[in-house]
Amino acid sequence: MKNILFLLLTIICFEAVSQTTIIKCGQLIDGKSEQPLGKKAIVIEGNLIKDIIDWDKIPSKATIIDLSSKTVLPGLIDCHTHVLIQGDITSEEYDAQLLKESIPYRTIRGTVACKIALMNGFTTIRDVETEGAMYADVDLKKAINNGVIPGPRMYVSTRAINTTGHYPIGNSEYSWELHMPKGIQEITGADEARRAVREQISYGADWIKIYADRSYFKKADGSFGSIPNFTQEEIEAVADETIKSKRMLAAHAMTPDGIIYALKAGARTIEHGSAPNDECLDLFVSKGAYWVPTLTVMDYVAEGRAKLGAVSYLQMYQGVQPLFKKALQKGVKIAFGTDAGGFDWQKIPQAREFSFYVKYGMTPMQAIKTATTVAAELLNKSGQIGEISKGAFADVIAVDSDPLQKIEVLENVTFVMKDGMVVKR
Ligand SMILES: [Zn+2]
Repeated sequence: MKNILFLLLTIICFEAVSQTTIIKCGQLIDGKSEQPLGKKAIVIEGNLIKDIIDWDKIPSKATIIDLSSKTVLPGLIDCHTHVLIQGDITSEEYDAQLLKESIPYRTIRGTVACKIALMNGFTTIRDVETEGAMYADVDLKKAINNGVIPGPRMYVSTRAINTTGHYPIGNSEYSWELHMPKGIQEITGADEARRAVREQISYGADWIKIYADRSYFKKADGSFGSIPNFTQEEIEAVADETIKSKRMLAAHAMTPDGIIYALKAGARTIEHGSAPNDECLDLFVSKGAYWVPTLTVMDYVAEGRAKLGAVSYLQMYQGVQPLFKKALQKGVKIAFGTDAGGFDWQKIPQAREFSFYVKYGMTPMQAIKTATTVAAELLNKSGQIGEISKGAFADVIAVDSDPLQKIEVLENVTFVMKDGMVVKR
């Protein structure tokens, strides 16, 4: 009986994919226009958007998904996640996951994170490293693409790269006889840098992620400094090998000491980048690079880490608002990224990030675009994701009221379609 039911369900699902479906939208925000488009209908054929039409053009016999009381948007994109970690304010929390949980166990937890992201309305994520879980992100991506588990479209960066001794788990934290697992792949020298990039790409990395700086501190003049992790030769080798292989480089960098040399080397995105100066902001613009500010995680970890003695996070977080405003004025491209996984996937909805952007000076529409067309451009996928337009993938979400009036409504997505399939309703 179960088998017959399953077969029927499979046939019904297949039917749903192959036929034309129309989503009747109470209000449509297409992810690229400056204004909402009002009452529209999205024509979907298979996994693609075929057309956007007026309500009076809806064919009488069409299969209709009635979202006429809702605001409809493109599936959202989170450019900074870690599906293989589940919150780490303290090093104890981080170490426990790397030391007490096997990679298969962490991957099982990762499947839950993938589902949460999708149910949050994020139909695409760029997952920026596995924190010691090797290439398990490639497996999660494969399982999603093969329909084994539900989850967003994933762009993955596998292990990430840092220089020897500069990333947890620290060798001096435990008995020196032990060989502690590391949250990244360690390199020393340009040759090892090239080898790491080549290796990671061979295992399936879409992006290469580096940690450009460490040991953040506030200077007497109020600005921030840090220690660059790579030599000039090393970072140039990473960037050269990455770009030559038609991949893109994401750089964790907090202060000008990390941001400037990463951007000059060719990083496409700066992750966190919490304390940029004018030179950084101008360099973002001249290089066409993206700032992924991850304010949700800054908000989440700042106080906890300050209590444990790492006050620089709190100081940077407290100073970031005027810098965000200045970046907006200068025309820096700001893309949506939360660092989900840096905070507990179960506790905070990723869309919380929007409210920081609006509080810090963006209009709600500008904030929405950071997770739609701007994020798609960052991923080099313009026209395919992050917009409701002809030819784009049918990734569609809806909320019960108008996010342009109250951005927080995006924290409660009530409808999700990914690739033409309804996954939440
Ligand atoms: Zn991160």
